[in-house]
Amino acid sequence: MIRTKTVAFAKNSSNIFFHILTKCNLKCRHCYINPSQHGKNTLPLPVINAWLEAFAQDSNSKNLIFLGGEPTLHPDLPAAVEYARSLGFGSITIDTNGYLFHDIISKVEPGVVDYFSFSLDGTTRETNDRIRGAGSFDTCIAGIRKANSMGFATSLIFTVSSANIHEVDRLPPLLKDIGISRFFIQIIGLRGRSATGSQTLIRDQKLQVARSQWLNTIPRVARQIAKFGVTVTYPKVFLGTGENFECAGLVADNYFVFPNGRVYRCPLCEDFALHSLIFKNNRLVPAEKLNERDLFQLNIAEGCVMNKLIQPDNLRYDSAGKPEYKIACCLLKEEIRND
Ligand code: SF4
Ligand code: SF4
Repeated sequence: MIRTKTVAFAKNSSNIFFHILTKCNLKCRHCYINPSQHGKNTLPLPVINAWLEAFAQDSNSKNLIFLGGEPTLHPDLPAAVEYARSLGFGSITIDTNGYLFHDIISKVEPGVVDYFSFSLDGTTRETNDRIRGAGSFDTCIAGIRKANSMGFATSLIFTVSSANIHEVDRLPPLLKDIGISRFFIQIIGLRGRSATGSQTLIRDQKLQVARSQWLNTIPRVARQIAKFGVTVTYPKVFLGTGENFECAGLVADNYFVFPNGRVYRCPLCEDFALHSLIFKNNRLVPAEKLNERDLFQLNIAEGCVMNKLIQPDNLRYDSAGKPEYKIACCLLKEEIRND
């Protein structure tokens, strides 16, 4: 039976999104990495290990995700993964664009890495490579097949935008063919180098998706994919009448760690010096005020405060000036699985 549930926020399980560098071989149009805010440095292995230790308490309830940039560009990633495993993290995922540098796949084992998570933004070479760069479609598909053949569990992340939503209906057969176990849909947001400062590419290219398009397409396709036994997760984005708004910064336990030492609790704050924590001398300490924590407390009719500040285009108001709907926390997810 296909079951859909909203994944409730919980304080008793954590997700640590650990960006060990920001360097990348690709230049995706919607990249959320912002080197001026996240750093341009590559963390040395002793620093990675020290920062992992800072999260090691109750580690079996914590999911660790290694990211970049492209994390497989880091030559010490296998050693970092081994150390994280020795510290007892509940799950370890490596996010990758599929290039699998430094022969990472031969240097770690399925018992140590729980998932290799790949990124693809089109079901065709033409669309994907227009967004992510020439050759990235074939490389990603080959990487997934290789990881599967070596016994790794694989997942796929697909960021929906106006540049690829026309291909979403072609996802089910593609995903059935390549054989992944988890599928994550994301929605494009105004984040990162390509959305800020003088490079307002995302807004200028009208890459954002309308509410009606999202609601008419994504839940339906997600159900089709789940029928193959793939667990599908996608952001709720828009709250229905009577649905409760909650800010994950107050009621969940997520950490977005960047190589310049900033640690955020909210991804929408990552383009600003609003981090609530920071590594100083390899110790995780509270950051100076004013920071994201002060924003989490604000209670507004539109739902998410950061959404209203940085991407108000997806809000609508009635003639009396009242919001027609609330925007959910960007971390609130729907999960569909075939039980
Ligand atoms: S989205 Fe990922 S793969 Fe693409 S440029 Fe950014 S870090 Fe690299
Ligand atoms: S996206 Fe909005 S609701 Fe979610 S943590 Fe950030 S500020 Fe809070």
